[in-house]
Amino acid sequence: MKAPVKSSGLSSRVASTAPSRAAAAPSESNGGDLFALLAEHTHEQVSFYYDPACGYRGIIAIHDTRLGPALGGTRFWNYHDDREALVDALRLARGMTYKAAVAGLNLGGGKSVILGDNRITRREAIFRAHGRHVESLGGRYITAEDVGTSTADMEFIRAETEHVTGLLGKSGDPSPVTAYGVYRGIKACAKVRYGSDDLSGKAVAVQGCGHVGYSLIKLLHEDGARIIVTDIDAQRVKSVVEDFAATAVATDAIYAQQANIFAPCALGAVINDDTLSQLKVDIVAGAANNQLAEDRHGQELESQGILYAPDYVINGGGLINVNAELHGWSLERARNKAGEIYDSILRVFDIAREERIPSYLAADRLAEERIAMVAKVRQNFV
Ligand code: NAD
Repeated sequence: MKAPVKSSGLSSRVASTAPSRAAAAPSESNGGDLFALLAEHTHEQVSFYYDPACGYRGIIAIHDTRLGPALGGTRFWNYHDDREALVDALRLARGMTYKAAVAGLNLGGGKSVILGDNRITRREAIFRAHGRHVESLGGRYITAEDVGTSTADMEFIRAETEHVTGLLGKSGDPSPVTAYGVYRGIKACAKVRYGSDDLSGKAVAVQGCGHVGYSLIKLLHEDGARIIVTDIDAQRVKSVVEDFAATAVATDAIYAQQANIFAPCALGAVINDDTLSQLKVDIVAGAANNQLAEDRHGQELESQGILYAPDYVINGGGLINVNAELHGWSLERARNKAGEIYDSILRVFDIAREERIPSYLAADRLAEERIAMVAKVRQNFV
């Protein structure tokens, strides 16, 4: 049996104490700042844990567990201060709620951060301390890899808790499933834009030919699409040029390509004030997280008549792959589930049309609709 974890006195269950979720409003009274932050987006719980023996300082944020246990990776990062770390954990946890909800998974949203230099070589004590922190939440939070952490770190966590995924020899690299979901999402966009999801002869400008980009380009090429590509890594560009007869362009030139579709598969914030005026495409649909530099850029895409596939809907395949590991699904089942992203994207555009809102907001509506529906069904004691 594992020893109990030292729990911080800051573990709070906002949702269970608030009269209603809708009533939660930033508090100006004592406790002020922290609880105001939680109330702002109705996070359920945040837990802080400090282990002076190894210097571990970790925060676990749980946003919403109405669909199931909160799942989200562990980020190891040198934050400027504690508040920045907390805000990052809260923001990322909320994002996971929405991503799981639109992917049709029975998972809630959570995220954890470890404060410190992620290049440290003595990792076992830090990650076992984190594992004990995760264990203290009794399964309300399940962790996985994220920026600054690796599968080897997950093994250390596993020594202290079962609530961890992304382990060595388990679900493996999620990129092929992510790429398949993105491919299906691109087809759905084509269906909406051109009346047919046939991609043959369509030009797709792909930014980034890494793990997801390469697999996506392969699928698009097999469908007869013409590929324009860029990457800061010349070797990766060379591979896709040779393997899929892609046309290579300079990194800065990718935005201005005369193509049907722009597929960001490298960095976030690539839809911004600088790039928007360069885009000549009909559709923006790719794997990268947080593609819009700011929400207003989603509105701007809409105004320019460009169809935008909200990133967290179209790139949900990675999370589906993690869910597959949790539930022992086969790769085929995970891939089929990722294939359903096609229907989710169509539904997002339906909502956008019905409610006359941009697609990035319609995606939020789709997530919120599902959470509210499931919460209603589960309100009785059975
Ligand atoms: P990766 O690191 O394997 O590939 C990213 C590629 O982008 C690399 O080849 C890199 O050289 C290139 N790149 C970096 N900066 C660039 C620039 N300025 N211009 C052009 N190319 C540049 O990462 P990945 O796993 O393929 O993920 C790609 C994106 O998709 C990331 O934003 C990631 O967060 C997101 N995503 C990935 C998954 C997954 O399953 N891997 C799931 C969901 C979302």
